Amino acid sequence: MSHDNEKLSVIYDLHSYTKASDGDLTPLELVDRAVLMGVDVLTITDHDTVNGILPAWQYINEKSKPLTLIAGVEISTIWEKIEIHIVGLNINLDANCLKHLLEMQTARRNLRAEKIGYKLEKFGIPDTWQNAKAYAAGGQVTRSHFARYIMDYAKQKSIGQVFKKYLTRGKPGYVPADWCKLDEAIDVIHQAGGVAVLAHPGRYSLSAKWQKRLVLYFKQQQGDAIEIAQCQQLSDERKNLTELARLHDLYASVGSDFHRPCAWTELGRNLWLPSGVTPIWQTWQ
Ligand code: AMP
Ligand code: MN
Repeated sequence: MSHDNEKLSVIYDLHSYTKASDGDLTPLELVDRAVLMGVDVLTITDHDTVNGILPAWQYINEKSKPLTLIAGVEISTIWEKIEIHIVGLNINLDANCLKHLLEMQTARRNLRAEKIGYKLEKFGIPDTWQNAKAYAAGGQVTRSHFARYIMDYAKQKSIGQVFKKYLTRGKPGYVPADWCKLDEAIDVIHQAGGVAVLAHPGRYSLSAKWQKRLVLYFKQQQGDAIEIAQCQQLSDERKNLTELARLHDLYASVGSDFHRPCAWTELGRNLWLPSGVTPIWQTWQ
């Protein structure tokens, strides 16, 4: 199959994780894998933290790695009681407003984690908070760390099964998150000199009507781009998101959402953009 941008020589991947949150690779390992996969421009977008970026930058400079690293973050937000992820790209890590927001988000994460631990303890799974923290090994604690511990403790078959049984809405370890508001995240990203991207719009289990409402709201709050291309998605989804981007005059972003090597996700894979949209990187070139 041939696509408009398939022959582009520069490969961008603007959505990936390290051990600074719930990725499996260290920032250095992620850099090496990106180079191996032929990625030219990478963004690290850990959950509510930028701690993976400086070590990766230093490594690239010291070892002259053929990779451009853009500073990024993925901020968990709330819109209409739904959890929506906003990616900030090309942000200034020294911006005080960004540091402050990420501190608040970390505090919210830890408070939620404590509550998850308390609920699971009552349900008969002890010490989940301590163990999730140990699994995070100093990184931002996410539900993935709880899931890994519960999988081992309760001898579950997969992380997906653990989420389904214990960690999603209505299940024993579910605690509604108290994230910042969507417009606050956009505002802080802008104040930090970055651009705000609506991450993976197809992954919020929204009807087409609600997805349209979300994109409209995002645009009204001065959002800049929507993530159109991911490694694995129905071709319809890429087409539909392209139409929404055009309708609202939003830039297009691309990202694998890479957390770890696995069969269905790989850095830089399948991230072509359809014609008719403007890539977000044109705003910083
Ligand atoms: P948190 O931000 O703490 O809610 O955790 C987010 C992490 O949990 C992300 O890395 C997601 O990929 C992962 N996650 C969320 N839902 C699921 C699920 N149903 N199965 C597997 N991982 C999930
Ligand atoms: Mn996300």
